[in-house]
Amino acid sequence: MSELINRSAVELRDLLDNGEISAVDVLDAHLARVEAVEASVNAFITITDDVARAQAQAADQRIKNGTAGPMTGIPVGLKDILCTTDAPTTAGSKLLEGYQSPYDATVVKMLREQDALFIGKANTDEFAMGSSTEHSAYQFTSNPWKLDHVPGGSSGGSAAAVSAQEVSVSLGSDTGGSIRQPAGFCGVVGLKPTYGRVSRFGLIAFASSLDQIGPFARSVEDAALLLGAISGKDPNDATSVDTPIPDYRATFGGDLTGVRVGVAEEYQIDGMDSRVEESVKQAIGELEKLGAEIVPISLPHTEHALATYYIIAPAEASANLARFDGVKYGLSLAQDNLLDTYLQTRGKGFGPEVKRRIMLGTYALSSGYYDAYYVQAQKVRTLIKRDFDEAFQNVDVIAAPTSPTVSFQRGARSADPMQMYLSDVFTIPANMAGIPGIAVPCGFADGLPVSLQFMGRAFDEATVLRVAYAYEQNTEWHTSNPPLDAQITTAS
Ligand code: GLN
Repeated sequence: MSELINRSAVELRDLLDNGEISAVDVLDAHLARVEAVEASVNAFITITDDVARAQAQAADQRIKNGTAGPMTGIPVGLKDILCTTDAPTTAGSKLLEGYQSPYDATVVKMLREQDALFIGKANTDEFAMGSSTEHSAYQFTSNPWKLDHVPGGSSGGSAAAVSAQEVSVSLGSDTGGSIRQPAGFCGVVGLKPTYGRVSRFGLIAFASSLDQIGPFARSVEDAALLLGAISGKDPNDATSVDTPIPDYRATFGGDLTGVRVGVAEEYQIDGMDSRVEESVKQAIGELEKLGAEIVPISLPHTEHALATYYIIAPAEASANLARFDGVKYGLSLAQDNLLDTYLQTRGKGFGPEVKRRIMLGTYALSSGYYDAYYVQAQKVRTLIKRDFDEAFQNVDVIAAPTSPTVSFQRGARSADPMQMYLSDVFTIPANMAGIPGIAVPCGFADGLPVSLQFMGRAFDEATVLRVAYAYEQNTEWHTSNPPLDAQITTAS
C-alpha cells in the first residue's frame, strides 16, 4: 500500500469510493511516509496522527453509508496559523506555544465535516511573516529537492509536506505570496484565491485586507478539488462573498484556443535569475503552441507594489498583533503592573522579524506620518488594482514568473531583510488587487524547481485553473518527485 503516496487526491477518492482501498490504508501509507522522511524535512510543528486515525475510521464509515464528500479520507496538512480545536495552534511563534483554540477555523470545520485526515500542523514563519520559513520560532523546514535549501515561506511546511508526499494536499495562507512562492520553491501547485472567496475566520490575522487561505497540491486538479471544498460565504467573515462556486474540474480539458494570455514587461526585472527567465519564456511559447494568443501588456505601477506592501501589511499587522498582550492569549509573563506585563510578554514572545514589522507598522500609522505613508500607500494600491482592471479588459489571464529566483540555501538571506522581501515582487501585486493567482511547476535549475504564475480576474479562478491545467497536462514538470530517499540515505 506504500504506493498510495504516489496517488493524487482525485485518484484516492476514486479508489476509496470503489472500495478498492480504505481510508485507514491511505492513512497508514502516509504516516509511514511521515515516519520515513519527517526527521529530514521537518514540515510539521505538530503531528496529529491520533486525530487522523479517528477521522480515517469515520471516513470509512461515511464511504460505506454513501455520505462521503470530495475530501473524505484525503490526507491534509494545515498551516499552523489555522485554528483547530484538537491540536495547539502556534502561528510559528513562542507567544502562542501550546495555545489551544476554542474553535476551528471555518476551512478546518468544512474539511472536518467531510472526515478529511488531518496529518498535522505545518511549520510557518512566525505569524506568516517571511519567505523562507526560517522565521519560525520552532524549527527549520527543508526543501525536499535539496535539504540544505529553504522551502520558501511563509507556508513552507505546507509546501514541503505536499512535495515530500507526507500529505496529498495542504492549506496555507497568502498575504503577499506565502502560498505561491513556497509552492514554486518546492515544485508543487499553490493557489491564492480571490480575496473573499474563502472565509478567513479562524486564520490568525496578519494583514486582514490581504490575507487569503488556499490549497497546495501536486496537480492542478487536486488544487481545484480542495478549493471547491473550502470556498463560500461564511457568516463569520463579513468579507467572504456569496458568489457561485463553479465545478472547476468540469471546465478542464481542450486546448487554449481563444484564450488571451497577457505578458507584462514589468515582470522582467534586474537581478532576476536568467534560468527562471528562460523557463518562463519557454512556458509562454508552450501556451502559444496550445493555441493561446500572447498579448503584451503593461502594469506600470508594479514597481511600487513591494514598497506599498511594506507599509500596508505591517500597518495592519501592528494593529492585529496588539491582542497578544499577555492577558488574553498564549504566553503571559505577568508582572506587578500591566505595562510591564505587556513589555515582558511581547518582548520575550515575539521574534525579531515580527518586532520589525510591528515597528514599521506603528511608525507608518503614527500621527504626523499617517498621511505620508499609510494614506499614500492606499492610493498607490488603488493604482495597482486599476492596472489589472485595465489589463483584464484585453486578456483573460496574466502569465509571469512566481518568484525571481529558485530556492536559496538556508541562511543565505537571513542577514538582509531586503533580499528576503524581494522574493515576493511578483506575487504581491495580486494580493494588492485581491485577484487570484496560481503557481505551477515550469522547469528546473540545477535540480531546483522553477515556477510559473497565472493571475486572473477577481472570482475567475475557473479560467486560471483551466489554463494552468492545460499547461500542466502538456508538460512533464509536475511528474517528477524530489530525490528525497537518496538524500536521506546519503545523510545517514
Ligand atoms: N513574504 C511576505 C512577507 O513576509 C509575504 C508573507 C505572506 O504572504 N504571509 O510579508
